[in-house]
Amino acid sequence: MTPRIAVVGGGMAAARFAERYGALGGPGTVTVYGAEPRAPYNRVLLAEVLTGRYDAESIALPLGGATARPGCEVVALDPAARTLRLADGTVEEWDELVLATGANPVLPPVRGLRRTDGYGLAEGVHTLRTLEDCARLAEDAVGARRAVVIGGGVLGVSAARALAALGVRTEIIHQAPYLIERQLDAEAAEVLRERLRTLGVDCYTGNRARAVHGGEKVGAVELANGYRLDCDLVVLACGTRPRTALAHAAGLPVATGVLVDDGLSVAPHVYAVGDCAEHRGTVHGLAGPAWEQADVLARRLSGAEPDARYPGTRPRARLSTGGLEYAAFGTVDETLDPGLDVLRLTDATRGSYKKLVLRGDRLVGAILLGDLATVDALAGAFADDGALAGHPLHLLTGGTAMTGVAR
Ligand SMILES: Cc1cc2nc3c(=O)[nH]c(=O)nc-3n(C[C@H](O)[C@H](O)[C@H](O)COP(=O)(O)OP(=O)(O)OC[C@H]3O[C@@H](n4cnc5c(N)ncnc54)[C@H](O)[C@@H]3O)c2cc1C
Repeated sequence: MTPRIAVVGGGMAAARFAERYGALGGPGTVTVYGAEPRAPYNRVLLAEVLTGRYDAESIALPLGGATARPGCEVVALDPAARTLRLADGTVEEWDELVLATGANPVLPPVRGLRRTDGYGLAEGVHTLRTLEDCARLAEDAVGARRAVVIGGGVLGVSAARALAALGVRTEIIHQAPYLIERQLDAEAAEVLRERLRTLGVDCYTGNRARAVHGGEKVGAVELANGYRLDCDLVVLACGTRPRTALAHAAGLPVATGVLVDDGLSVAPHVYAVGDCAEHRGTVHGLAGPAWEQADVLARRLSGAEPDARYPGTRPRARLSTGGLEYAAFGTVDETLDPGLDVLRLTDATRGSYKKLVLRGDRLVGAILLGDLATVDALAGAFADDGALAGHPLHLLTGGTAMTGVAR
């Protein structure tokens, strides 16, 4: 009998699984149930949709031979009976179930974020997770003069840069001492902050938003230090939380995310991948790990490699968006371990910063910001995880001048 594979969640992990399963010649039928009204798309490019560089069609993701069921929210699972129920009451059967429900934006504890009737966000306050969010934000940005982005991680920085590109003066408020602190170090963040300033974005780090003022329509954000930033738009970029309610209600194991083992298995015939999954205590919340998990699961379920294992993903991130570019790998904070050495190259004039973190002749971490010419060589060396051939400086300069090196 042809196995029926149901994928819950029509996002990036779901699409990758379906595409890989098809490419590997998996014998089953794959159905992707997605709550959003459209088939899967590349969410990472939403800021580029906001600027108008891409439209919704051009960021659609391939699904192999899978059937997409957009606008079909799954509201209940019965792992024992191997069925799922859709919002319209329809019950569907499956043989294998893949949970890929992603994550929801976190709403920070800031007064005045919600409408006065308590229903939904106040007018002018936005999250950016879906194409629908993006369309609403783009509409509101027309005629807006000032925006405040709460949160200076990768999403906050991308959103702020996109709003500035639309001609809206934008300010980022970030609680941590520097921007994108999970992936960059303080020096790289300073170079990034300066680049953002030239693009029309100012940053207030080490600061917290305390309240949003303005009644039904936002008018200002008040900081914890009492300072007030007038604005017509607020974008919340304070991280995400895995969507686990469906799994939890079905009695599946959930901690922060849906718990998976190295085979991405949750329970017999039930698997989870992407932002909703928690593997060895880690919820990644990034596209790279979501795709790696989807690839492993496709190899297992297609029969191409039934024993494939997901060992985890070493930290790796890349942002490349109109005028801002960085890549970060592994451990970037050398102060964590006295056995680590650093090679650093800063060019304030060109707004670039490059750093290698080494243990002996092994690369354990790196940052490239503003100049990604050597990113492929670096990514290769990081993936190899072995002794570096030759002087590591070539990974920063590509074999060119050696001036300005600090050790
Ligand atoms: C603007 C933006 C920029 C980003 N930039 C980067 C970046 O530069 N680098 C990076 O690595 N990551 C980035 N990310 C994060 C990245 O997009 C996510 O890690 C990735 O989308 C995770 O894929 P996923 O399939 O697990 O979740 P998602 O892509 O969120 O997909 C989950 C889908 O499941 C659907 N769903 C949930 N519950 C149900 C249900 N019960 N029934 C049916 N459907 C359901 C949701 O509606 C959603 O469509 C960015 C995210 C955003 C929003």
